[in-house]
Amino acid sequence: MDQPVRPEALPSFPAWEPVSGLYILATPIGNLGDITLRALAVLQGASLIACEDTRVTGKLLKHYGIKARLQRLDDHAGPETRARVIDEARQAPVVLVSDAGTPLISDPGYRLVREARSAGVMVTSIPGPCAAIAALAMAGLPSDRFLFAGFLPVKDKARAEALEELAGVAATLVFYETAPRLEKSLLAIARLWPEREVAVARELTKLHEECRSGTAAVLAAHYAAHPPKGEIVLLVGPPAPSEAPVLDTDALLRAALAEAGPGKAAGIVARTTGIDRATLYARALELKSA
Ligand code: SAM
Repeated sequence: MDQPVRPEALPSFPAWEPVSGLYILATPIGNLGDITLRALAVLQGASLIACEDTRVTGKLLKHYGIKARLQRLDDHAGPETRARVIDEARQAPVVLVSDAGTPLISDPGYRLVREARSAGVMVTSIPGPCAAIAALAMAGLPSDRFLFAGFLPVKDKARAEALEELAGVAATLVFYETAPRLEKSLLAIARLWPEREVAVARELTKLHEECRSGTAAVLAAHYAAHPPKGEIVLLVGPPAPSEAPVLDTDALLRAALAEAGPGKAAGIVARTTGIDRATLYARALELKSA
């Protein structure tokens, strides 16, 4: 899919009479072939394409031989920029894309869509790739109920709290993750849910695509030994009906002690389980000296 494609070489762009409005259009998450014929027709007929990074979108358009006016519209775009884009969408087709996948899904666009709708501008979606959905489709975890939770916080405490908040959710949890943070997130999940099935879906639709399943501890050990590269979706299976609300505290303390001293380990486990910190600290000291 690296060779540029001539539009006339495609099966055919469906006929599309450009209609004014805002088109929220999904683009590939890796493999440039993953774009719909309707998306190509709309991109070709657009009066303006609002995008996160003109170089990234320019590359996609070049691949398909499409020439278009591009306007940067990222998370830093102010209300005047959005107002100008919305004004244009009243009179002509304006497309919103992100660097990859579906706009608004951990990507910019929410304010633009909200303001366009309240301004009475037609807003529609040209659906296509989304890494969360691609990962869910291939991970082999229950897909009848899932909760997309975006990126986990970077800081340890905030990450642990964000996970704890989701503890009671009876659904597969889907997170976006980065390679440098994967191991820490897996360790945090191992501490909280040592028995749940976890999947790491990496580099989807690309040459080195992989989807690896196991417990979080096993996956953490794997990625400690083989530091991952590229883009990652992290999925955590739902709690088993038998999942004990409070898990083996010794196991939790041992996992925490592998990363922190007795005081911090007791604090982490206290937050996770609600058990008294002083009791846990005493037990952490015993485990450490055993
Ligand atoms: N809007 C995009 C979508 O629809 O998937 C997501 C944008 S978000 C800024 C980028 C994150 O999506 C990455 O950090 C990664 O977690 C995930 N992602 C994007 N492409 C991916 C891919 N090819 N394989 C695995 N994860 C991917």
